[in-house]
Amino acid sequence: MSVDLRYRGRFAPSPSGPLHFGSLVAAMASWCDAVAFKGNWLVRIEDVDQTRSRPGASDAILATLEAYGFEWDGPVVRQSERGALYAEALDDLIRRRMAFACACTRKELELATPGKSGERVYPGTCRHGVLAGREGRAWRVAVTDETVRFHDRLQGVQGQQLARDVGDFVLKRADGLFAYQLAVVVDDSSQGITHVVRGADLLLSTPRQIWLQRQLGYATPSYLHHPVALDARGRKLSKQAGAKALSTDALAVLREAWTFLDQAEPPSPPVSVDEFWRWAHAAWKARSLPPVVMLPAPGSRS
Ligand code: GLU
Repeated sequence: MSVDLRYRGRFAPSPSGPLHFGSLVAAMASWCDAVAFKGNWLVRIEDVDQTRSRPGASDAILATLEAYGFEWDGPVVRQSERGALYAEALDDLIRRRMAFACACTRKELELATPGKSGERVYPGTCRHGVLAGREGRAWRVAVTDETVRFHDRLQGVQGQQLARDVGDFVLKRADGLFAYQLAVVVDDSSQGITHVVRGADLLLSTPRQIWLQRQLGYATPSYLHHPVALDARGRKLSKQAGAKALSTDALAVLREAWTFLDQAEPPSPPVSVDEFWRWAHAAWKARSLPPVVMLPAPGSRS
């Protein structure tokens, strides 16, 4: 079998609202990096959590990407249409007795101690079977003790001990929806993604994803986590926190995102979106990115 080792990157927005500055930064960084490697760049709509998806948001995100001059390769993939793939991966883990049914309620889990990531570490209650009279509703994977280490292209060596910092994590939720951690691992593998470039808010999820890739026999992509944009109150820009949709002045916003990513300023200001991208694709340098995890978005300092 011949293996295509070419670069395949992706941008994977969740359609919980319109594209905002934080996701524009992720789209720009992942596209420019893919172009620098002469690779492909795919767009995947991460609507696996249908409770958070807003009607029309994915079309609005794609329309904004187009208006901002982004060009992706191949058809857009939507997680809401890929349940069979996630079920297959979960069944594999269940068959190998690595995944177990969990009957714990959110309320019960609120009593668990938070780990380093700030998330509550699963106390292992149902690991060896649900208590008599209870019914398993979610599916979790039983993590092993080792520390998962990886080299982030920007943040350097990272490590997390899953058992201590996260615990057995959810693959399928009590409401029947597959969890992001499973969906993203299945999708990155089935789409042949070789390079993940995304916001540093996901840095603490990466060890879980790498560990899951190993259990499922998938290849591990290379990772680069760029700084995430914060609002005036120091919160990550997100649709939930009410981040504004982007203005229609695409060129101005693209230039703000470019500056946010600490990239070299063009010798003379580009006069069109096309001209901006010609400059950006030639000038992109991943090593110029600021290796911090969070940065205020332009205009967020009040
Ligand atoms: N869907 C996630 C988000 O919009 C990104 C996930 C990823 O890039 O792995 O924050």
